[in-house]
Amino acid sequence: MIPFNKPFLVGNETSYIENAVQSGKISGNGDFTKKCQDFFEDKFGFKKTLLTTSCTDALEMTAILMDIKPGDEVIVPSYTFVSTALAYVRQGAKIVFADSRTDHPGIDETKIENLITSKTRAIIVVHYAGVACDMDIIIEVANKYGLFVVEDAAQAIDSFYKGKALGSIGHFGTFSFHETKNIIAGEGGLLTINDERFIDRAEVIWEKGTNRSAFFKGEVDKYGWVDTGSSFLPSELIAAFLYAQLEHLKQIQLKRILLWETYFKQLVLLQEKGKIILPSFPDYATNNAHMFYILTKDSSERDALLTHLKENKIHAVFHYLSLHTSPYYKETLKGNHSDLPQADKYTDCLIRLPFYYNLEIKQVEHIVQCIIQFFK
Ligand SMILES: *Cc1c(COP(=O)(O)O)cnc(C)c1O
Repeated sequence: MIPFNKPFLVGNETSYIENAVQSGKISGNGDFTKKCQDFFEDKFGFKKTLLTTSCTDALEMTAILMDIKPGDEVIVPSYTFVSTALAYVRQGAKIVFADSRTDHPGIDETKIENLITSKTRAIIVVHYAGVACDMDIIIEVANKYGLFVVEDAAQAIDSFYKGKALGSIGHFGTFSFHETKNIIAGEGGLLTINDERFIDRAEVIWEKGTNRSAFFKGEVDKYGWVDTGSSFLPSELIAAFLYAQLEHLKQIQLKRILLWETYFKQLVLLQEKGKIILPSFPDYATNNAHMFYILTKDSSERDALLTHLKENKIHAVFHYLSLHTSPYYKETLKGNHSDLPQADKYTDCLIRLPFYYNLEIKQVEHIVQCIIQFFK
């Protein structure tokens, strides 16, 4: 069986964990945490970064930092992972779902302004498959109405919008190092803070509502309970694992891009014959090869192709189920949303093909042959 995903180890993960253990400091906010945060700030120009235990945690931190309260409205794409909405629902916000673009699963920038009311506080965008949303349009709308912008960049490490790193453009950005992402730490995440006004408070919320970070920097002579917060910081063991991966970012990305391009070149004929649709990129966006997906013409063809691949020992998967049709939204939150046809299209027709560092070119060729055979 060719699995859908296989975590890739660069080799130094366990020796770096061993170093952390030997150093005697294994709780959070130690040397490996600083090394990871410095890496992100130096390489991608994020103003301030904080490692978290997940992207979900980083999103929850943004909800606290923006002071989201019951009655507030937050605009979120429907075609995304649960966490993108959940973080704000937990603060009592009403979620207003936005549709996807016709040519890409990312949020349709042109439809956001219609969703804004006097209660709207924030726009959350998701750079699906690491492909940038049109941030100039989104920032312009946000500025016009005085709204916050959060970039859920869980899939978007090492990807850019008009030369700017994704996660550096909104007030906040959030990344994931879950084992299905390009760079992994088992579970792990990162919050980027691009608006200086929030840096001090973010450090407090990160450290259980205490000013412990300021204490260790010598800025205060004792630390205590000063705000709300939680235990959002990962242990040094996770940071050590992550740092080993970050040192190999370039190598990992080169291999993933090679695999991505192999899929694309070999499937392009099926697209020309009108059988499938391949990913497309606006000219302002880069490709970080987070995933390789194809679109079928409808859900029954999608299911038949998945079955065909499974019979050939290839594990391909569909992706998100639009959140506006989820049981939790409809039954528990009593949400009642108008149709979002593009989000539903991606729910019904999108297939993600096996994609991981150790996938071999000849396996990609085999997968492509099985897909071609299906359409014959
Ligand atoms: C993976 C993912 C998340 C969740 O990341 P965790 O680190 O598992 O919390 C959130 N949003 C998107 C778009 C994702 O792809």
